[in-house]
Order: sequence, then C-alpha cells, then structure tokens
Amino acid sequence: MDKRDKIEKFFFLKEIGVNMLSPEEAEKMRRVLLIKPPSERFKKEEENKQKEVLSSGLSLKEKFLSEIEKEIAQCKKCPLFSTRKNYVFGEGSMDAEIMFIGEAPGEEEDNQGRPFVGKAGKKLTEMIKAMGFEREDVFIANIVKCRPPGNATPTPQIRRTCFPYLQKQIAIIKPKVLIALGNVAAQTLLDTKETITRLRGKFGKYQGIPVMPTYHPSYVIRNYTVAVRKAVWEDLKKVLALLNENR
Ligand code: SF4
Repeated sequence: MDKRDKIEKFFFLKEIGVNMLSPEEAEKMRRVLLIKPPSERFKKEEENKQKEVLSSGLSLKEKFLSEIEKEIAQCKKCPLFSTRKNYVFGEGSMDAEIMFIGEAPGEEEDNQGRPFVGKAGKKLTEMIKAMGFEREDVFIANIVKCRPPGNATPTPQIRRTCFPYLQKQIAIIKPKVLIALGNVAAQTLLDTKETITRLRGKFGKYQGIPVMPTYHPSYVIRNYTVAVRKAVWEDLKKVLALLNENR
C-alpha cells in the first residue's frame, strides 16, 4: 500500500467512526498532503465505486476487510501470535444486519481458522437458524483473533490490544445490531465490568449500534436447562423485533 492509499484508508476509517488520530492531527495531515476534505473525496469515491469494482474485482468493503485480514495475519502485538496455529478473522456476509461476537477461538477454531466451528459453533448455528437466518446471512467474529492456550479467558490487556481489529470490521460491515455472546464480548463492547447475568436481555449501545448481550453457546451447552434456553431465545426474539421495527 503506498502513502496515498494509506491516507485514503485513514480517512475512510475516520469517516465511519474509527478514530486513530485526533481531529487536529487529521486536519494537519490533510493540509500537508493537500488532499480534498473527506466529504468531497467520498462523493468522488462513490462515483468511482462501480468502476473500482470492475477494475479490481473487489468492492470497497471487500478491499478494506481484506486489508484488515492481512494485518491480523502478520500481527505480533500480543503473545498469542506465537502459540496460534491459525488466526480467526471471522466469516459471513459483509452486508450482514446482525454480527455475532464471541470471545476468542477455541481449539477447533484454531485448527480450522474459522469462528464457531466446534460444539459451541453447532449451538450458535442452531440459534441463527431459529432466528430464520443461515450462517452466511450474518457475520460471526470474536473480540480476540488468536486462541489463548488452554482456552483461557483472554486477559483485559489482550482484549484491549486485539479489539481495534473488530472495531474496524464493525465499522466497515455496519450491522444493524450486535449480539454479544458471553461475558468477554459483552463487557468489551459495552465497556463495563458487569457480568452477563446482569447484562443479558437488555439492549446496550456500541458506537450507536444496539448490542444485545446473551449467554455464550458454550454456557448454554454446559447449563442445558429450560431456563437458560428460554432466556437466550427471549434475547434473540428482542433482536428480531428490533430488526422488524426498522424495516
Ligand atoms: S490475538 Fe489479536 S493482538 Fe494478539 S496476536 Fe492475535 S491478532 Fe494480534
């Protein structure tokens, strides 16, 4: 990526809410490079969008998502890079209305490089189908992209280090709602220390996007009671009601 591409990417991310520089620093950078303000550039960019798709074979969303994936593939920002077999970027529709956010890859996810493919993945797929969707209709990702050894809960430091990758994914995909699966996802997205038991069932907000915290599929498997299953289904129904309201 040359210098100008990097600047273009910076302003794209800035426009969609990912802050990497202060407004003053951003303005200074723009003046130094004598490039047009974002609003003008994006009008032009929108006009060129179709052309770009035709020339590169990629849409803008695909292009930016693949750049994030390249960053993750090379990432050594925390110790998990040295023990992972594969990073787990996430998968699904880049135009998804719903993003399911989990904690971190487990053993099977680490082996395959895909999110939620073990037992918990089967349970998540059941939840998605119960809502009337297929896995391909939604986007599934984790707060942390590499497996913590022994499936340990990722430390707050590791969560903070890795979270910006998910923030960028959310900013590009622009889902209508986020479903936070379990403590780590809910606490990170909602920036709170409250536990999932207190958070679940009530919408919170991440960058203006509604977040529904619910139990992690692994918890549902371990606590396979009518009460837990009913609680999760009530949470998912609230998400469906929200989507229907906004259609
Ligand atoms: S867990 Fe995240 S921050 Fe750590 S190495 Fe993997 S991608 Fe980088």
